[in-house]
Amino acid sequence: MEKIYFDHAATTPLDKGALEKMLPYYTEIFGNPDSPHFFGRKAQGAVDSARDKIASLLNAKPSEIYFTSGGTESDNWAFLGGARAKKKDGRDKVVLTAIEHHALLSAAQTLESEGFEVCFLPVDKDGKVCLKTAQERIDERTAIVACMAANNETGVIQPYREVVEYAKKMGALTLVDGVQLAPYQRIDVKEVGADMFSISAHKFYGPKGVGVLYIKSGVKIEKLIVGGEQERGLRGGTSNVPNIVGMAYAYEKCVRDMDENNEKIERVKNKFVQAVTALDGAHINGESKTGVVSVRFDGIQNTSLLYSLDLEGIAAAAGSACASQSIKPSHVLMAMGLSEKQTGESLRFSFGKDNTEEEVEKAVAVLKKTIDRIR
Ligand code: PLP
Repeated sequence: MEKIYFDHAATTPLDKGALEKMLPYYTEIFGNPDSPHFFGRKAQGAVDSARDKIASLLNAKPSEIYFTSGGTESDNWAFLGGARAKKKDGRDKVVLTAIEHHALLSAAQTLESEGFEVCFLPVDKDGKVCLKTAQERIDERTAIVACMAANNETGVIQPYREVVEYAKKMGALTLVDGVQLAPYQRIDVKEVGADMFSISAHKFYGPKGVGVLYIKSGVKIEKLIVGGEQERGLRGGTSNVPNIVGMAYAYEKCVRDMDENNEKIERVKNKFVQAVTALDGAHINGESKTGVVSVRFDGIQNTSLLYSLDLEGIAAAAGSACASQSIKPSHVLMAMGLSEKQTGESLRFSFGKDNTEEEVEKAVAVLKKTIDRIR
């Protein structure tokens, strides 16, 4: 059976060219980049050029690019490290949107246990952060503000630039989680204006377990890992050279082919939205501007639909985080005003550059058959 993959927001397949670029760094060019001999210098050269490439694609300086193990680490480091550094100035409050990834929600919990006040920014029924509320809640006590760029469950783009602008006026540090925007839009960190910006390679056909935290020059946050002098002494540990090389290649390709891929994804996504909304009791949650679509079917459990799709070799996701195989109600959809029951009726489809309209037709036919049987 031909398998169909509609879960690109969870992860994307590794680009074959990226894999080819990575392989020599597991074999002949295996040196530790911190070793001063030939083997090390070769590896260091590869890390340096990856840093230069990513910096130039993001319009940052190479010294502002920090390699991490992915989006979760970048978000954790920025939020925890930023808040703790700012506490020294007497700021003891952190602000984040109610729809952030768990990487930030959990970091906020940690900060709460350290005595920070945690303040959430609500979203409207369309899944967008309300700027007016942000302006009311961000104040002179705020250490750091996090506002994601694009949501991973709905594809809704947030007013992150405006939130950042206001937070800066209040003297707070700012973080934009750009993990779900980077595959779809070119990023210019100067235009974003935030102190920190996170991306993750496996969302743009790069390897898993590697990402970037951009930290603007002059911004001081606490160290993440002590031990080595890697990443300018802030994040110790031998660099994951193959992953860093693969990420730089994949990101360059993603940016180069972005318009063409966006067009393909848009076509497939529009076809899906058109076909799926023709089904009885179907609703789209939020207006997506990425490859992600969240759809809800009145009275139908998402687990039944996911199971039927899976039997037919079609991979989609619940509109929520799956922790140890159990589906929890989505905090994103609940924040948009959906009931717990409605979040349990929601599915996430996320399209990639290689999906086709035929695949969409097949998936929608399975959804229709299953819904008809249940009803
Ligand atoms: N932030 C967002 C918005 C995400 O969608 C994800 C992953 O799904 C992450 C952060 C975490 O990234 P990673 O899987 O690289 O840890």
